[in-house]
Amino acid sequence: MYEKTRKMGLPPSDEGKKAVFFDRDGTLIREKNYLKDPAGVELLEGAAECLRALKERGFLIVIVSNQSGVARGMMTEEDVRRVNARMLALLRAAGAEADGVYYCPHHPAGSDPAYAKACDCRKPNTGMALRAAEELGICLSDSYMVGDKEADVLFGQNAGMRRSFLVLSGYGAKEREKIEGMAGAECAEDLAAVCARIVALGSR
Ligand SMILES: [Mg+2]
Ligand SMILES: [Zn+2]
Repeated sequence: MYEKTRKMGLPPSDEGKKAVFFDRDGTLIREKNYLKDPAGVELLEGAAECLRALKERGFLIVIVSNQSGVARGMMTEEDVRRVNARMLALLRAAGAEADGVYYCPHHPAGSDPAYAKACDCRKPNTGMALRAAEELGICLSDSYMVGDKEADVLFGQNAGMRRSFLVLSGYGAKEREKIEGMAGAECAEDLAAVCARIVALGSR
């Protein structure tokens, strides 16, 4: 019966790949509030090591970032892409790769009419997770989220991920109390701690 279902083109939902989703600012690179200049990109301690270790354990690495500075008229999408490219170059130089990088340029209160809207891709909405799942073949329920804000944690939970981590870098220390007692969420001191927890929790 199981085989038959598969042949009929209905893959069981657990056939997707597992992934770890990471926020960008304050999680993988130093939080600099609306970073626009690629020269300002600084990898946080342990970022490359964490990505590398998780990839070795079979996880895809996906970076998901809210960049409302675009909607606010403070930077362009090209600026966002240049900062992302610089981050990826630094990661690559340290032996780490990402499988997907997504950003949301919108904000409901933006000043640029082209981007001022309530969208489905601004975290904690799940647009970027759903898009990555479709493009990369990811099973979200076997995946994890890591970020430094409550919105990151909620994004992981809204997307049905296995667990979400709040790192204490970036805004993490300030946001910590917001996620206290939240099911499926936990704090981790830094990326090394996140990595150790994911390895310990394992996957199916
Ligand atoms: Mg952040
Ligand atoms: Zn958006």
